[in-house]
Amino acid sequence: MARPFRPAEINEVFSRFAAQDPDPRSELEYINPYTLLVAVVLSAQATDKSVNKATEALFFKADTPEKMVALGEATLRDAIKTIGLYRTKAKNVIALSNTLIAEHGSQVPRDRNALEALPGVGRKTANVVLNVAFGEPTIAVDTHIFRVANRAGLAPGKNPREVEDGLNSVVPEKYRLHAHHWLILHGRYTCLARKPRCPDCLIADLCRYGDKTPASGTAPELKGRVLKKALKTSSAKRKRRRARSSP
Ligand code: SF4
Repeated sequence: MARPFRPAEINEVFSRFAAQDPDPRSELEYINPYTLLVAVVLSAQATDKSVNKATEALFFKADTPEKMVALGEATLRDAIKTIGLYRTKAKNVIALSNTLIAEHGSQVPRDRNALEALPGVGRKTANVVLNVAFGEPTIAVDTHIFRVANRAGLAPGKNPREVEDGLNSVVPEKYRLHAHHWLILHGRYTCLARKPRCPDCLIADLCRYGDKTPASGTAPELKGRVLKKALKTSSAKRKRRRARSSP
């Protein structure tokens, strides 16, 4: 098992993220806390890009729970049909809008339990809303953060909750507000799922991953293939030389 990070190393990781991108932002487009909540609900198992494409026109027409309910489930479904699981998501967005109107004065509550009680809202969505809309230092563990935390060894865990708790216990307080975005962006653009871009990674010297992607041209398997070919060629050359010199 890889050696756990020392506090000074964790500090170094996040100070590098902070130096590179002092004010990281969500890549989801939104207008207010309500549209943020809707965008995050729609983003489950979908890319931010696909959500933004659908919500640009939608939020122009419906940026409050009342307007969304007035739009109706069928129209909403049609507006988001390019996003995966759109039928269930349309149902949830209308239901959560009705709950916001009935129980929260049409406002998005700044409270984890109240958020998680809304249809279609789980812990991850609540964490994003608390962080982005209300500036709370929560860390929403999505697929990118789960991968980066485990692979780099920052906070290994078997499930998102274990990783979230691990990160909360190791990330220095001064970096906790932005940790969520730094790690998502790192996973999305550098520590890619299939082939992490280790040669371009700003924390490569601290990362514990034992199978880092080598700089191009130095892949061990490539070196092996080149070496094998060279040996084959020189043995063929030797054979030809022997054949020429033999009487
Ligand atoms: S060195 Fe590679 S595996 Fe480690 S965090 Fe960077 S990109 Fe990910």
